[in-house]
Amino acid sequence: MALCVAVDGPAGAGKSAAARELARRLGILHLDTGAMYRAVGLAALEAGIDLADAEAVARVSASAEVDVTFENGRQRTWLNGRDVSGDIRMPEAAAASSMVSAVGAVRDAMAARQRAIASGTGAVLDGRDIGTRVLPDAPVKFFLTASPKIRARRRLNELLAKGIRQTFEQALADVEARDLRDTTREIDPLRPASDAIIIDNSEMTLDEEVGRMLEIARHKVNI
Ligand code: C5P
Repeated sequence: MALCVAVDGPAGAGKSAAARELARRLGILHLDTGAMYRAVGLAALEAGIDLADAEAVARVSASAEVDVTFENGRQRTWLNGRDVSGDIRMPEAAAASSMVSAVGAVRDAMAARQRAIASGTGAVLDGRDIGTRVLPDAPVKFFLTASPKIRARRRLNELLAKGIRQTFEQALADVEARDLRDTTREIDPLRPASDAIIIDNSEMTLDEEVGRMLEIARHKVNI
């Protein structure tokens, strides 16, 4: 069976960067599952529905075609045939994604897609429920975290690099609001799997962190 690695953690924990680099070093795909929820969030925003209306969200999700493709290991995310890789990074799409991701029908559809993608080639998947739900049998699971202030600072820098301006207070409020929604939702709340290795990367460089993850992965699966 292809090697699958689960990387979960809260918003701004640096999951995507760590998962991408780990996947590159292991020579397998990196699937950013948050991008798929963001695409559904964007679809719901564009449809102009009430994001708190679970039935309306489920309807939009059922008719939204969310796809991912990979070019030189880089993921592109598509919504109804349109490349939305840039649009889904807007703060509005981030907020919408955490609302739509609380809907069971959305989670069922996304988890099934993610499993199908991972089972083919092997992959490092980053998200919130990879170790607990999408791939409960993954042989290697990580839960990455950092303090809310550090995560807000990272988010702010990411947005600034894309020319999107936000204050630190706004970024911190967004991170805290998403943490609260992600950890308290009824279905698949964000929590470490019982067999996940927890890494607090507040004081780590990306290189140190990925080095540690690689060492643990190699030890666990004997590669
Ligand atoms: O990882 P990212 O911040 O891009 O994820 C966007 C949102 O999608 C998260 O706030 C979370 O609500 C949701 N999500 C999820 N399960 C995943 C990945 C993301 O619920 N596996």
